[in-house]
Amino acid sequence: MFLNKLIKASVQAGVRFQGTSVKVAPSAVRTSQGGFNFEFTDQQKEFQELARKFAREEIVPAAAQYDKSGEYPVPIITKAWELGLMNSHIPEDCGGMGLGIFDSCLITEELAYGCTGVQTAIEANSLGQMPVILAGNDEQRKKYLGRMTEEPLMCAYCVTEPGAGSDVAGIKTRAVKKGDEYIINGQKMWITNGGKANWYFLLARSDPDPKCPASKAFTGFILEADTPGVQIGRKEMNMGQRCSDTRGITFEDVRIPKENVLIGEGAGFKIAMGAFDKTRPPVAAGATGLAQRALDEATNYAMERKTFGKLIAEHQAVAFLLAEMAMKVELARMAYQRSAWEVDEGRRNTYYASIAKAFAGDIANQVASDAVQVFGGNGFNSEYPVEKLMRDAKIYQIYEGTAQIQRLIISREHLARYRK
Ligand SMILES: Cc1cc2nc3c(=O)[nH]c(=O)nc-3n(C[C@H](O)[C@H](O)[C@H](O)COP(=O)(O)OP(=O)(O)OC[C@H]3O[C@@H](n4cnc5c(N)ncnc54)[C@H](O)[C@@H]3O)c2cc1C
Repeated sequence: MFLNKLIKASVQAGVRFQGTSVKVAPSAVRTSQGGFNFEFTDQQKEFQELARKFAREEIVPAAAQYDKSGEYPVPIITKAWELGLMNSHIPEDCGGMGLGIFDSCLITEELAYGCTGVQTAIEANSLGQMPVILAGNDEQRKKYLGRMTEEPLMCAYCVTEPGAGSDVAGIKTRAVKKGDEYIINGQKMWITNGGKANWYFLLARSDPDPKCPASKAFTGFILEADTPGVQIGRKEMNMGQRCSDTRGITFEDVRIPKENVLIGEGAGFKIAMGAFDKTRPPVAAGATGLAQRALDEATNYAMERKTFGKLIAEHQAVAFLLAEMAMKVELARMAYQRSAWEVDEGRRNTYYASIAKAFAGDIANQVASDAVQVFGGNGFNSEYPVEKLMRDAKIYQIYEGTAQIQRLIISREHLARYRK
């Protein structure tokens, strides 16, 4: 019922819903009008409110059950899609809303507050789509992004392999050109939405010469998931974010038409890496949403639980712990917003995106662990929400570039500013 009200409110605000006949397209929201400003536009507030209500009323109550069953949250994803809370950055000329990264991040933080398993499943769409948004020609963009605005489809970003994750240039999946097609052989690992995707962004080595630089050795493809030779592995049982679908995928003589090459042979590495500038801010926003949830849960608990005749929040040690958690959440939020704002302004944001991703990933783990501490013995038990948050948090230090790889990028960017 509330969804209808939200749809109404958001239509008034100019939101265009996927899969509905509503055709009120918003203009892309600018995050600043010049000058320093923390105030959101009315439209940004509407998006945030819509996502917040959806997360609290639809995701929060279902999250524990999805965590237990590991089931893919199809009903939630379908509703999120209907409300326009997914794929929000698909350009308007492809049927999407064309929102900036900043606005998408506001939505992501709220969804993550509800459950980061759900948020990761949704966010993996953005990661799969981003190479096509950045590098697709008109036909590719309209075909593959357009279909995602017509029905609630998923896609995936297929780069990591069993032998290479951080060291992307070490991937071994091969692409060999034969006539008008490329023949793909190899194996990918840890692919989010691997078993649910309608299509994949796939990175493969097209130049076998080991001396060929990474910037020329790899090609990026769009691959229809139902192509013969695509073998999808079992769903992996992970520590957290258990309703997200993570799988290995094997490619055996898979044929991709040359029309599905992004930009051209050899351009794949730059495309695959370039996507991260736009997808790391939302990952940081997700980590911030989880940390905010942990802070809220811990604070509410501390305001109810009594020891030694007073609320535990009245013990200075607990109050200060909550203060530290609040400081971290606020700073992680500022970091992801800065990194998103930079890229929306058209500036290279690699440095800020890695700072946001590394910082928010770290603090999500610290704040979730502190929340368990505030809950005492109850925190260790699955009847309470915080042990899930602690398990869910860990992946933010691993996927989309580990905590160490972010520091590598930040240090490179930092030192480059000092080199004469
Ligand atoms: C749940 C989940 C979902 C994922 N989703 C996707 C997806 O959708 N698509 C996709 O392509 N991939 C995905 N990944 C893969 C993920 O991006 C990689 O796991 C990650 O990049 C790390 O790679 P790795 O696992 O091979 O670890 P490794 O690269 O082997 O690293 C192992 C350890 O060594 C450290 N290390 C490595 N190199 C260095 C260095 N130069 N300096 C300092 N430390 C270093 C790392 O930080 C890490 O601590 C996912 C992974 C998981 C677990």
